[in-house]
Amino acid sequence: MRVIVTGGAGYVGSHCVRALCDAGHDVVVFDSLVKGHREAVDDRARLVVGDLGDRVLLDEVFGSASFDGVMHFAAFAEVGESVTDPLLYYENNVVKSAVLLEAMREHGVRRIVFSSTCAVYGVPPSVPITEDMPLDPINPYGRTKLAMEWMLSDCANAWGLGAIALRYFNAAGAYVGWAIGEDHDPESHLIPVVLQVALGQREKIMIFGDDYDTPDGTCVRDYVHVGDLASIHKTAIEKVALGAFGAYNVGTGRGSSVNEVIDAARKVTGHAIPAEVVARRVGDPPALFADPSLVSRDLGWSPKYVEIDATVESSWIWHQAHPHGYKG
Ligand code: UDP
Repeated sequence: MRVIVTGGAGYVGSHCVRALCDAGHDVVVFDSLVKGHREAVDDRARLVVGDLGDRVLLDEVFGSASFDGVMHFAAFAEVGESVTDPLLYYENNVVKSAVLLEAMREHGVRRIVFSSTCAVYGVPPSVPITEDMPLDPINPYGRTKLAMEWMLSDCANAWGLGAIALRYFNAAGAYVGWAIGEDHDPESHLIPVVLQVALGQREKIMIFGDDYDTPDGTCVRDYVHVGDLASIHKTAIEKVALGAFGAYNVGTGRGSSVNEVIDAARKVTGHAIPAEVVARRVGDPPALFADPSLVSRDLGWSPKYVEIDATVESSWIWHQAHPHGYKG
């Protein structure tokens, strides 16, 4: 297949590009490099640096070959920033996605796999989360992703688009052997921040609350390995049916608490990793983990990584080799 990957220089996108190239697909990465890293892009893919809102450039790319589908990752993804600057998120994640869909319609490209999120559920009534639970995001980031799902569903009805939204939980780890990994600036995600303590770049890890209604009082999340995310994206673009929209939870089905993640990092790194409990972070639901049975049933996917230790270890290999991310 010939596939355009928007945001293919980002953390999850770059892993999916590797999986596509390994499977023999032709890939064009379309990325602004505002958040992404040129170094993360597979040599086998063609990189086009540009903004998704640039319809002229999109026409040029879509017109350069006959494409079978799009994987759409390009988006801003900082929850806190989405609260303070919602219009930036609506503009970047929703308006520019509409431009992309318009270009797809006009160039006859009818397949898309969309990078959605478990944030579309907000605070779920219970866990594990199934796809039929209420869609009620609690921040602008989640709302922009849900708005995009609605657009995909409406386009499937209106002009035969085939769309799959993958609602992933906490993307984590690095695919050992591909020499790519997580590099956000600023970094706020739990696993890389914990590993920065092990690398001596931070003094301690701040635990955002230990008085939640969870087994050890700290928040529980479902850390799904980025290599497993890559494999489901590849499968989804190969299997997506025209004229239909489907949304799937993509997680391991297991929850790990903040304390369990820190303990896994202590084991893997051999570092004491001092921790201090501080106030809760605003907007953190106590527990989020997936029921991945639907994606397993419909697309035959199941994660290779389910143990948090192995996921943290793969991250540690990346962070040790690249203590300052792609800068070295
Ligand atoms: N967390 C924490 N300290 C940190 C970063 C994160 O205690 O320095 C907690 C956070 O409150 C959440 C979990 O770790 O419960 C995962 O947070 P992350 O930002 O990695 O992902 P999120 O679940 O917010 O998408």
